[in-house]
Amino acid sequence: MKLGIYIHIPFCKQKCYYCDFPSYAGKEACQDAYLDALLFEIRKEGRAYQDRIVDTVFFGGGTPSVLPKEALPRIIAALRESFTLADDAEVSAEANPGTVDKEKLTAWREAGIDRISFGVQSFHDSLLRNIGRIHTAEQATDAIKLAREAGFDNINLDLIYGLPSQTVAMLEDDVKRAVSLGIEHISVYGLIVEEDTVLEAMVDEGKVTLPSDEDEEAMYDHVTTHLEDIGYHRYEISNYARDGKVCRHNLKYWQFADYLGLGSAAHSFVAGKRFANERSIDDYIRRMTEEGTARLDDEAETIEELRGEYVFLALRTTEGIDTEDFQKTFGMDFFVQYGDIINRMMTQGLLMRDGRYVRLTKLGMKYGNRVFAQFV
Ligand code: SF4
Repeated sequence: MKLGIYIHIPFCKQKCYYCDFPSYAGKEACQDAYLDALLFEIRKEGRAYQDRIVDTVFFGGGTPSVLPKEALPRIIAALRESFTLADDAEVSAEANPGTVDKEKLTAWREAGIDRISFGVQSFHDSLLRNIGRIHTAEQATDAIKLAREAGFDNINLDLIYGLPSQTVAMLEDDVKRAVSLGIEHISVYGLIVEEDTVLEAMVDEGKVTLPSDEDEEAMYDHVTTHLEDIGYHRYEISNYARDGKVCRHNLKYWQFADYLGLGSAAHSFVAGKRFANERSIDDYIRRMTEEGTARLDDEAETIEELRGEYVFLALRTTEGIDTEDFQKTFGMDFFVQYGDIINRMMTQGLLMRDGRYVRLTKLGMKYGNRVFAQFV
């Protein structure tokens, strides 16, 4: 089976108020040591996965674009030396519009990165300030133009709806401006106020106001109908792509395919087993240096948990659950295992059956959590 590789770059210029990802500001001093540790891990794991063809690589974070322009090309060179990369491997990198320039984007493109994902979130500066983003709408537009000039023909843009002070009209405008830039892929996420974030404190203290439930629903309805109406194919609950531009790496997560995570906090799923590295940058560097590994104890999962995850992840895609693949993977009939739940959800209009596939209906996509809760 082919293998995807995820590389975690845990550095950010500033922590966005809503973010609970394993990313850190003010850690520039350990970037060199981190890169050394990461390159060591790449070489070591490359030896262990000699028999696998790597068909996707994804640089996420954090902010891969905060690193100097030579950093990602150096990592890619190490990947090519240590693993067998397919000629047509998809190589994606996340970027913050506030940390790119023409030289960096050109160096990325020349090194083989062929897909770039910009965290834009909104084209309204007042909203960007509310959530602590370091860039303006104009910088986002400029970054996309620079990426085009550097030769990128596969660009994603992330948007968020439900932001503090965001109106339905502002969200509609965000979608319109994203589309007008001619990008190939759009990811649209509903804002979640995570525990222990700056945003949570701001909401609790009444410093910002979130949109009403009705407005948030209207935003969701606009995104889901408008993007499909104008030719973006919704292939996962939050992801829309022009023909042939789905993110092959991210599909692996939902299709229960193998991926290896390298770097701090990186998670892996290989041959039915999940494992992860140390979350903190310092612990990752220390353990890689002293022990040659930063792996945490395996997250042992029962077969029931794995089955539930398979169903939950597959249901996020518009293709849904391939019940024949389920049978092959787990050696049991999907309907024998889940028939009662499926029938109940179908009666409620949340699930539908289409030949060998079981998938969420439009209504089910909207209330996905109600369905997922039945399986995990
Ligand atoms: S740039 Fe991304 S990873 Fe970094 S703090 Fe903001 S949301 Fe989190």
